[in-house]
Amino acid sequence: CAATRTFHSIRPPLPLPPADLPLSFPAFMFSLLPAALPSRPALVDAATGEAVPFPAFLSRVRALAAALRARLGVSRGDVAFVLAPPGVHVPVLYYALMAVGAVVSPANPALTAGEISGLIALSGPSVAFAVKATAGKLPPDLNTVLLDSARFLSFFHEARDEDGAAAGTDVVTHQSDPAAILYSSGTTGRAKAVVLTHRNLMASDATRAAATAEVLMLAVPLFHVYGFTFCLRVAPSASTLVLHTARRFDGREVLAAVGRFGATRLALAPPAVLAIVRAAEEDEALIARAAKLQAVNCGGAPLATELFRRFLHKFPGVCLLQGYGLTETTSGFCRAVGEAESAQIGSVGRLSWGAQAKIVHPETGVALPPGVPGELWVRGPFVMKGYAGDEDSTSKIMDSEGWLRTGDLCYIDKYGIVFVVDRLKELIKYKGYQVPPAELESLLQTHPDIDEAAVVSYPDDQAGELPVAFIVSSSGSILHEAQIKEFVAKRVVHYKQIHHIFFVNSIPKNAAGKILRKDLAKL
Ligand code: AMP
Repeated sequence: CAATRTFHSIRPPLPLPPADLPLSFPAFMFSLLPAALPSRPALVDAATGEAVPFPAFLSRVRALAAALRARLGVSRGDVAFVLAPPGVHVPVLYYALMAVGAVVSPANPALTAGEISGLIALSGPSVAFAVKATAGKLPPDLNTVLLDSARFLSFFHEARDEDGAAAGTDVVTHQSDPAAILYSSGTTGRAKAVVLTHRNLMASDATRAAATAEVLMLAVPLFHVYGFTFCLRVAPSASTLVLHTARRFDGREVLAAVGRFGATRLALAPPAVLAIVRAAEEDEALIARAAKLQAVNCGGAPLATELFRRFLHKFPGVCLLQGYGLTETTSGFCRAVGEAESAQIGSVGRLSWGAQAKIVHPETGVALPPGVPGELWVRGPFVMKGYAGDEDSTSKIMDSEGWLRTGDLCYIDKYGIVFVVDRLKELIKYKGYQVPPAELESLLQTHPDIDEAAVVSYPDDQAGELPVAFIVSSSGSILHEAQIKEFVAKRVVHYKQIHHIFFVNSIPKNAAGKILRKDLAKL
């Protein structure tokens, strides 16, 4: 719209129920399934080959939902913290929790106990789901169910199908009710609890995108918004979801699994694209084995243009489709569709259905015309409800008209194709994982020999970006790089490790005391 300089999506509408109809996300998704359930599996574990057929998927969700209420007392509005490695039971658990009106809150099982207690303080769960290997990181007073226990497995068998009411069919869920709490640092500061509603999930391109049945192999974590939303896709398109469950990502193994399970689509983050390109460059036979592959979705972090070209060279018949979004927008709201958009190297496609965007001058706040970079603001039914218990941060990222500031420098060309140019916000993405500089800076400042610290991003071929620190040590102290790295290593998850330390006399700041990160990055 030239008058308001607002960009509107031109994608076909995504059917949604009337907003005021009480309806949960699971009930809506299941209503989209074909009456005659397909005979192919709904879920497959790529490592073990364990397959869950569609009827079993639905009955497990129902049985688990009934057990959650009857055996664990989980009820509407309760927050359930999930600390689990990927597996076929994870989408089942997500669906069952949402079906009874509970709020799913998954987190990275690799986080340290200290990091986890920080997240728990934000979301206030009344129950947790973990595995034996991760349960020890949870507070002892939090009621915890082990997913790898006989007790959990018994939940699938005890409840009978006729326990419809117990399974949540009598729970009145409004579409505006919270369905999930995910964690993100947003545009500044530390982690925040992002509240996503049932309606957000229904309106997300990520949960709804597949129009035709396909075999989708998912090699992204199920606790991050990308994997979280993609793994909920299982229902509407009656697609088969193959979950990458190995601890490590090995390009060779993933391509072999693509061949083994006949995957037609593969969802990855940029470091995984690099891994499969390398594997294909080393062993051409793997490309032939993955012959059914038609599309690779890539998102979560920028994809280098050079890597894009290497991919196209090795996989000429496969569309590499970039998507872009945030935890706060229920995953991607821009996505390349089809060959023509895939060929727009460096772009993240067009706005998804329901999305409106503005490109705003970061200093003047003026909306800019096509082709001119500025901060991307977005509005649509997929934009989060807000940060739990943090109105201040919510109002900083979202205005009263519903516009969400992405903190990304982007432009939209005259054909409506979106390009991400740079990041304006204080966020480092290591292999697509969020590393909030403010969190590492506060941690470093608790070290008795550190006066000041600033953490910035450093470019890296494999990880995309690495966190590096500038340190002002206290006078008289003799600090070594190794000591600081060890101090950090003990306290945070592997992807938040500091890779280089630079000792400086002072940290450059503006008049308001804000760290001049761009100056440090140049250094
Ligand atoms: P998260 O909430 O972890 O999904 O992080 C969202 C941020 O990741 C965005 O604001 C971008 O800075 C970055 N991001 C996600 N997808 C892309 C992409 N396709 N290209 C460039 N940056 C991306």
